[in-house]
Amino acid sequence: MTTVAQNSELPPPYTERVDTVQPVTNQPIVLQTVIIPLTLKRTPVYVNCPNCNERILTTVQHTNTQKTHMIAGFVCGLTLCCMLCCLSAIPYIIPTCKKTEHYCPNCKSYIGTYS
Ligand SMILES: [Zn+2]
Repeated sequence: MTTVAQNSELPPPYTERVDTVQPVTNQPIVLQTVIIPLTLKRTPVYVNCPNCNERILTTVQHTNTQKTHMIAGFVCGLTLCCMLCCLSAIPYIIPTCKKTEHYCPNCKSYIGTYS
C-alpha cells in the first residue's frame, strides 16, 4: 500500500515584481580634446604660442629621427661596393631627412614637430 501524500500546500504566493529600469543619468562625460591644427613647416612659422599666448615666429631645431638613420643605412648599403659610403652622411646634412621641432622664442616652450 502506498500512501499518496495529498498536496494540500498552496503554491507560493505570486507577487508581481515590476522591475523598473532606472534611467541612466550618470553617463560618462566625454572629454574632447580640441587639437588646433598647426601648419608647421621646415622653416619658422608664425603661430600663437599656447604657453604665453603671444604671436611668435617659431625657432626651429632639426633633429635626426629613425628615418634619418634608415636612409643613411640604406645609402650605405647601396654604396658599400663602390666605396661611396660617405654619401650615407647626406641624410644627416639635409634637413628634409630630419624632423623639425618648433619652439617659442619667448618662453622656450615646445610648439610642435614637423616631420
Ligand atoms: Zn611662448
